[in-house]
Amino acid sequence: MKFGIIGLGYVGLATLCGLAKAGHEVIGVEKDQPRLLRLMNGEVPFHEPGMADVLRDYPGSITFTDSIADVETVDYLVLAVGTPSKSDGSCDLTFVDEALSEVKSKQKIIIRSTVPPGTTDLLSIMYPAHTFAVVPEFLQEGRALADVLKPHRVVIGSDNLEMSEEVAGIYGRLGVPLVCTSPIDAEFIKYASNAFLATKISFINDLARLADKAGADITTIADGMGLDPRIGRSFLNAGLGYGGSCFPKDMQALLNVAHENELDLPVISAAMHSNDSQMAYVASKVEHKSGIKVAFLGLAFKPETDDMRDAPSVTLARHLALREIDIVGYDPLAKWDYPQAMTPEAALKGADVAILVTEWDELVNLKPEAFDGMRTKRLIDARNAWKYARDPGTVQYEGVGRMQNK
Ligand code: NAD
Repeated sequence: MKFGIIGLGYVGLATLCGLAKAGHEVIGVEKDQPRLLRLMNGEVPFHEPGMADVLRDYPGSITFTDSIADVETVDYLVLAVGTPSKSDGSCDLTFVDEALSEVKSKQKIIIRSTVPPGTTDLLSIMYPAHTFAVVPEFLQEGRALADVLKPHRVVIGSDNLEMSEEVAGIYGRLGVPLVCTSPIDAEFIKYASNAFLATKISFINDLARLADKAGADITTIADGMGLDPRIGRSFLNAGLGYGGSCFPKDMQALLNVAHENELDLPVISAAMHSNDSQMAYVASKVEHKSGIKVAFLGLAFKPETDDMRDAPSVTLARHLALREIDIVGYDPLAKWDYPQAMTPEAALKGADVAILVTEWDELVNLKPEAFDGMRTKRLIDARNAWKYARDPGTVQYEGVGRMQNK
């Protein structure tokens, strides 16, 4: 089959690679010229394992263009454009609308962008020539292609039975559970899933603050809780709070949908509030002295990505910069606007405090000797991930919600 994919970010490019690997012909449409040129040269414009191999191994079935007119004859058009937040926190559907208004022929459209509950029903009214299915994407950055090739489930929302069956036929080959439902339920499943995971993080962070005060170890607590299959261990890592391009904006958008329906969502609101408090809390672990230097170990919102959208490192840096603290960062891939060092050791040189912000392998495995160049050898482990936490040598170690040096 032939697919057109509009928008080649993390979701669009992962979808394109997955479809090419499954033997389909794919045409990727990208309006950002630098991004498009890199793709045409076989380069992946961000860090995602495995994608460059697919671009290299399937050249005959992958083409790129900047024009939606070039995908008018495909079997399915996949929409993977961004849906960022507006200034009021609601979901901005401008890119979805712009892309759809350029599609001139009657098409079968698969929406993979995250859109608020009710959007696809509205789009079906606004663009009656097309048939729609909304198939939300659940991938995690840093493992986007692996998640597309082996998702935990595929959710297909369509009011058109034929379209629903066709899309189920495409994804059925993955051998994973399929949930075929209405568009609004499919859209809801995506927001509910992200909101649940973000809330789980805030829940454990609340308890981590208490564990700090009470003298308990949140990592042991999470391990003990996580053994209960009704709870599960994932997303119970206390630390700096959630960030990235999805959780913050999707939580806010869900809250806005609730407000449009004259409802409050107290659990969601509290989880967002807790997340803000958590970053301020980690910042408060740095002593209130101006002129000290703090080294950030890791900048990206999670390991294995260079994505800095809504990265907690930036929020933490803002908290510290307000106190006239000098900040320097190190990350194997991500870049930011504050000073940046080329190696962890260079960032640590002369620093008074180090903060482990992103649990990259390279950083969680830093030996205690790596901190020797610091003015004061003090590490705040904002991910509770440093491998030498129990044997820190001369490093003064402090996790989040863990008894010191335990
Ligand atoms: P992104 O911003 O990385 O990529 C979107 C791309 O679409 C950009 O390259 C942009 O230039 C392009 N684009 C916008 N309008 C276009 C048009 N008219 N024609 C051609 N190209 C166009 O976004 P992303 O992170 O891949 O996310 C896409 C959607 O998927 C969002 O709704 C997001 O919430 C959702 N999502 C993202 C993730 C994730 O981890 N990034 C996971 C699941 C779902």
